Amino acid sequence: MRLSRFFMPILKENPKEAEIVSHRLMLRSGMVRQQSQGIYSWLPMGKRVLDKVNKIIREEQNRSGAIELLMPTLQSAELWQESGRYDAYGKEMLRIKDRQERPMLYGPTNEEMVTDIFRSYVKSYKNLPLNLYHIQLKFRDEIRPRFGTMRSREFLMKDAYSFDLTKEGAEHSYRKMFAAYLRTFSRLGLRAIPMRADTGPIGGNLSHEFIILADTGESEVFCHKDFVDFDIPAEDTDFDNVAGMQSIFDKWTSVYAATSEMHDEAAFNAIPEGDRLSARGIEVGHIFYFGTKYSEPMGAKVQGPDGKEHVVHMGSYGIGPTRLVPAIIEASHDENGIIWPASVAPFDSVIINMKAGDEACDAASERLYAALGNAGQDVLYDDTDDRAGTKFAAADLIGVPVQVIVGPRSIANGEVELKDRKTGARETLTVEAALNKLTG
Ligand code: ATP
Ligand code: MG
Repeated sequence: MRLSRFFMPILKENPKEAEIVSHRLMLRSGMVRQQSQGIYSWLPMGKRVLDKVNKIIREEQNRSGAIELLMPTLQSAELWQESGRYDAYGKEMLRIKDRQERPMLYGPTNEEMVTDIFRSYVKSYKNLPLNLYHIQLKFRDEIRPRFGTMRSREFLMKDAYSFDLTKEGAEHSYRKMFAAYLRTFSRLGLRAIPMRADTGPIGGNLSHEFIILADTGESEVFCHKDFVDFDIPAEDTDFDNVAGMQSIFDKWTSVYAATSEMHDEAAFNAIPEGDRLSARGIEVGHIFYFGTKYSEPMGAKVQGPDGKEHVVHMGSYGIGPTRLVPAIIEASHDENGIIWPASVAPFDSVIINMKAGDEACDAASERLYAALGNAGQDVLYDDTDDRAGTKFAAADLIGVPVQVIVGPRSIANGEVELKDRKTGARETLTVEAALNKLTG
């Protein structure tokens, strides 16, 4: 992508409305724009990152055996009357009427709808277990939307729903998602800690929130510091291995971790003082097992091996991609801007042509741009006629992992400079060597 043809509206001033660093950096780097309170457009730079986050989420959902579909944002109130949640949900639900005066709503979550899909098609235990997920916009009329897309009213959620014949089966499905979440957050460059959680309006009896530690987090959390060193399930993890899933779950729930709602002061104080971690955290995912809470009133049943009808056991599993993007920034930035983990960076590298219009600089930059692109990399080429200082500041701000700096002095010796955004380490190499290093 040539910057001169891209759309990257960088702000020079610090936006006053931004209270936390991720919100400030997302606005400054032109990733998002607020359209009305708590409702955002994702501008091209932000969209690139969001897509990469979603890709990782999808890959790990699919690896664990979940199947993607797409349900609509607008739902009929009737379904929610069946489960009893239409009245229970309260003001966070945006209620709408269509031209026939039929009550509709903008979905805050999809348990009812997916249960309806399930009951319409699945009639036998032979089709179980089943886990269906989608990545779709939700709307919750939050009383206090804030911190940009961290807590917005319209936001993206990956929500998965599992269906099993028995409670034991459902618990295995729960542990599969648990392991998939550990892998997902780790690939996003985050260390998320699963904490026993309250089940809230979704209801149910087994629930974990996945929390990343950050000073700006809204939740108060308490845990053992051993979590920092626990192993993440490997890529070749067998999600159908019941004992294997159990042992991952047992390991990750073996030491104390709880949010303030579930906090047990005595249990926490039993941890040696030096091993206690009391911090603030951001909830990036939340999983629930809730048995037959929706399947019972909505009549989601299958025929079991005994020939009788059984109400299915369900769980639901959420991740917030539009919250994850600022959460990653909270965890990875410095005073100059964002530092993207390579897995979600909007571009793999940025070529900074310090003197656009200079024959040697232009030729070397073009050569690098073409070669890196041909090697399958996502490259941003700053070919604008801004001053070099402005270009350096912009490159630091947008946080692309590698900067390839092409300046008139070094290019006279056939050399360019590589700068690692994270460490700040610089290295001077010939154009050839730089290409080998970046594509090797
Ligand atoms: P919170 O406690 O932060 O209000 P929640 O517990 O109501 O969130 P869940 O129903 O568990 O949220 O939703 C699953 C995931 O969706 C959350 O873990 C979070 O990542 C994301 N999410 C929920 N609400 C918002 C929001 N207002 N803005 C952005 N992401 C959200
Ligand atoms: Mg939650």
